[in-house]
Amino acid sequence: MRDDTRLTHLGRDPANHAGTVNTPVYRSSTFIWPDTGTLENHLQQADDPHYRGHIYGRNGNPTTAAFEDAVAQLEGGFRGLIMPSGLAAIVGAVLAVARAGDHILVTDNCYWHARQVFDQVLPRYGIQATYFAPMLGADIAGLLRPNTRLVYAEAPGSSTFEVQDIPALAEAAHAHGALLMLDNTWATPLFFKAFEHGVDISIHAATKYLVGHSDAMLGVIVTTEALYASVRETVRQLGYIASADDAYLGLRGLRTLGVRLRQHQRSALAVAQWLQQRPEVAQVLHPALPEATGHALFKRDFLGSTGLFGVVLKPVYAPQAKAFLESLQLFAMGASWGGFESLIRPQQRHPSAHIEPGVLLRLHVGLEAVEDLIADLQQGLERLSVTPLALRNLS
Ligand SMILES: *Cc1c(COP(=O)(O)O)cnc(C)c1O
Repeated sequence: MRDDTRLTHLGRDPANHAGTVNTPVYRSSTFIWPDTGTLENHLQQADDPHYRGHIYGRNGNPTTAAFEDAVAQLEGGFRGLIMPSGLAAIVGAVLAVARAGDHILVTDNCYWHARQVFDQVLPRYGIQATYFAPMLGADIAGLLRPNTRLVYAEAPGSSTFEVQDIPALAEAAHAHGALLMLDNTWATPLFFKAFEHGVDISIHAATKYLVGHSDAMLGVIVTTEALYASVRETVRQLGYIASADDAYLGLRGLRTLGVRLRQHQRSALAVAQWLQQRPEVAQVLHPALPEATGHALFKRDFLGSTGLFGVVLKPVYAPQAKAFLESLQLFAMGASWGGFESLIRPQQRHPSAHIEPGVLLRLHVGLEAVEDLIADLQQGLERLSVTPLALRNLS
């Protein structure tokens, strides 16, 4: 079956839920047992990763399990583990596979808060991370150390949008006995099939496109069969779980993921191409544009692009950039992305970013009419040609 059909069926089981179309919200900390035999039966199997019975809320319930299964099946992994946020998924997965004395090679264009975990939290537990230039590909072999346990990738990076060679990173890591972990939030399980490309563990900030409506925090880890039991054991021992209400929002988001992403894709590309023609713009960072770093890899490995990309404005005075951002009516300034609404924000460059000088911004193109979005950006960009002195008089 094709993905659009699977998106309407994954994680649903009407026969076991009174015929209701959607898997209901099971608000549950406690499951009770009718007799001591059932109790013993549950407890004996509690540590078996293949056991699907429910014992205690922290181990999940039918709603969280439905979300885990749906995401894992869509991505082509073995099984998923629901997490309270995308960052918790990163931390939980890394702690599940790395131990004191291990080394991790991290892509230099990774999500900023992941970088803080690698730099500030993990060293306290004896895990050391160093960074590699995102386009290194197979040459990463030269950086692998005897104690390198994990290569951590994010393709494309969510601040500067280089598309990495995931199969080459996987091959080099595996030849060395290391694992490849991927933050697949940008492409989602719909547009990048991580497990066909050699990934061992993928994580998603489901907060973004999977939930899709800017109204819940959620994460998920998906693994191969070989890793599932040990990753599950660690993340549940650490106490990570998400609520059934948020799992329900994740499942509901999945139903429209295909239609939403196709509109995000179409509109973001139109906005990106329009921006490329503007005199105020130095560079547009969008994996689906032929000029993009790693575009050939994007075409080879990805099934589509989404609504998040970067733009570098030619150098302007700070008050001009401020006036541009504050003039926008449809692009709100805000953290996060992946909801139905358009967002814009200034963005940090990672140390090895080879991009033009100027003001780096990140746009999330939402589901509004693209003509309105372009008109909004146009009136804003026109303010950049006004000098700061004239701006003061204007405001
Ligand atoms: C937002 C984000 C995360 C973290 O997800 P949260 O749910 O906010 O914790 C991780 N990776 C990427 C690429 C993100 O954009």
